[in-house]
Amino acid sequence: MKYISTRGDATPRAFCEILLEGLAPDGGLYLPVSYPKIDDATLTRWRGLSYAELAYEILSLFIDDIPAADLKALVSKTYTAEVFGTEAIVPVRALVENGQPSGLHIEALSNGPTLAFKDMAMQLLGNLFEYELGRRGEELNILGATSGDTGSAAEYAMRGKKGVRVFMLSPYGRMSPFQQAQMYSLQDANIHNLSVEGVFDDAQDIVKAVSNDLAFKRQYKIGTVNSINWARLLAQVVYYFAGYFQVTKHNTERVSFTVPSGNFGNVCAGHVARMMGLPVAHLVVATNENDVLDEFFRTGTYRVRGSADTYETSSPSMDISKASNFERFIYDLVGRDGARTKALFGDALSQSGAFTITDEERVAMAGYGFQSGSSSHADRLATIRSTWERFGSLIDTHTADGVKVAAEHVEAGVPMIVLETALPAKFAETIREAVGVEPSRPAKLEGIEALPKRFTVIKPETARVKAFIEQHCA
Ligand SMILES: *Cc1c(COP(=O)(O)O)cnc(C)c1O
Repeated sequence: MKYISTRGDATPRAFCEILLEGLAPDGGLYLPVSYPKIDDATLTRWRGLSYAELAYEILSLFIDDIPAADLKALVSKTYTAEVFGTEAIVPVRALVENGQPSGLHIEALSNGPTLAFKDMAMQLLGNLFEYELGRRGEELNILGATSGDTGSAAEYAMRGKKGVRVFMLSPYGRMSPFQQAQMYSLQDANIHNLSVEGVFDDAQDIVKAVSNDLAFKRQYKIGTVNSINWARLLAQVVYYFAGYFQVTKHNTERVSFTVPSGNFGNVCAGHVARMMGLPVAHLVVATNENDVLDEFFRTGTYRVRGSADTYETSSPSMDISKASNFERFIYDLVGRDGARTKALFGDALSQSGAFTITDEERVAMAGYGFQSGSSSHADRLATIRSTWERFGSLIDTHTADGVKVAAEHVEAGVPMIVLETALPAKFAETIREAVGVEPSRPAKLEGIEALPKRFTVIKPETARVKAFIEQHCA
C-alpha cells in the first residue's frame, strides 16, 4: 500500500516513510491510494480472532514495508491484557434497564495506561517508532505541547523506548493534580516534562517556533506525534471491527457508532472501516459546545473558530476550534480531487476561515452515513446521571456527550455503539457534580498524586526550550 497527499501530491510513499512525518510536503494529509475491500469470507474469518490477531490482519493490508513476523510481534506486544486490562482489550457492554435493552452499547477504549482512548493508537505508535528508528539507526526527539491528555498518552507510549526522547511542554500549575501526577511521576530518562510559566497557548507557540526553525529541527531531529499521524488513525480502525464483532452474530447485521469528537481523528477511523466494507449504518459525530463539526454535518458549511470563540467545557478533550483530521474525509467526499481539497482547506480556510460544499457534494455526503449532534454542560450532567440511575453505568464527560447524541439517533434493530473515550476517574469533579459519587480508579493509579515528581519549570521563551533540548541530546 502506498500513500498520497490530500492536496494533490501523488508521489507514492511507503508506510514507514510517512510514519515519522506530519503533514505531506504540499500541506495535505496522507491517505492510502485506495481502501482495501474486505469480503464476506474475510469478515467471517476475522470474527474468531483475538484483538492482536485482528490488528495484525488489518494493519498488514496497509503496511507492506515491515516484514510480517515483525509486524505480528509489534502488535502482540502492544495489545495485551496487562496493558489494556482485559483479554477483549475493547470490551463492549450493553446498556440495559430492568432487563430491557436500550439499543445502546458502550465500547471501552479507555482502559490503557492513561485512561483515555488515545492510548489505543499511541501505544502502537511507540512500538512502531522504536522499531523503525532502530532499523534506520536514527533518533527522534518528540516535541509537543499539552493541556493534559495527548501529552500523557505520548509519554506513556514512548517511555523507555530506544531512540526516542520526549520533550513535553505543559502549562505550569494549570493541569489537575491527577494529570500532573500522571505525567510528572514518570522517572524514565527519555521523558522530559517542561512546565512552562504560562498558559497552554504559550506552550503551543513555543512548539511552533521551534518547529519553524528548520535548521534546528533538522539538527535535533524534532518530530511530533499529533493526531494527523496516519499510523494513529490506522490503529484506531481496528476497534471498529472489534466492536462490530462483539454485538453481531452475522455479517448481514449492521451497527452504528457514535463518536465523541474533536479533531475528527477517532471518527475518521470509523469512516475508513466503513470504506473497507464494515457494515456500518451510521457514524454519528457527537460534539460538545464547540460544535464546528455538528454545524458542518447539519449545514454543509465548515467554519473554524478563533480562540475567543472556543469554549472551555467539562469535556475538555473535545474543545477544538478546527478539526485537524477533517480534510481526510472531505478529500474522499469530493471524489479524491486534490485540487478541490486544496481550494477548500488551503485557500478558502486561510482566507475566510470557512467554506461551504456544493449542493452536489451535499448529495454525495448522504452516501457516507454521517449524522451529528451536540451536547452542553447541562446535557452532560443529565446524561451522566441518567446513565448511572437507569443502567447502573458510570461514564465520563466525553462519553456522556456521545450517549446524549446517540440516544437521539438510535434506530430499531440497529445496535448503537458509543465509543467510551475516557474513564470517569479522570473527570472526578464533574462526576461528583452529576451523581455525588466518587469515581473509582484502577488500582495501579491509587495514590499517584503522592509519588515523587520529575519536571523542570521553564520561562515561556523559545530560546530556553531550545537550550534545554540541546543539553539533553548530548
Ligand atoms: C482526544 C479525545 C477526544 C476527541 O477525539 P478526536 O480524535 O480528536 O475527535 C474525545 N474524548 C477524549 C477523552 C479524548 O481524549
